[in-house]
Amino acid sequence: MALIQCLDCGKDISSNAAACIHCGAPLSSLKNPNQTVPYSDSEVSVMLSGKKQTSHVLHLILSCFTFGIWIFFWIIVAISNNGDNAAIDKKIKLGKKTT
Ligand SMILES: [Zn+2]
Repeated sequence: MALIQCLDCGKDISSNAAACIHCGAPLSSLKNPNQTVPYSDSEVSVMLSGKKQTSHVLHLILSCFTFGIWIFFWIIVAISNNGDNAAIDKKIKLGKKTT
């Protein structure tokens, strides 16, 4: 059990309390275990560099040589890459946990 400061009235309250005993502010809004902060620009650029690029030129050339058979592999690879990249975007959007 620790004393924390109420964000509403600034008085010390127990971290185990459901609400501030001085002003009644709910503690859940003060102490959110899932609170996140945005990633820094450098962290974002590192994650963005992990994104997979679908090489359309390579796939177009392969499509010509294989008479369109390669187009199916191309679509599968593109969908797979999009899924990975969407996960990275989501992670950046959510931010990192503070705890
Ligand atoms: Zn308070």
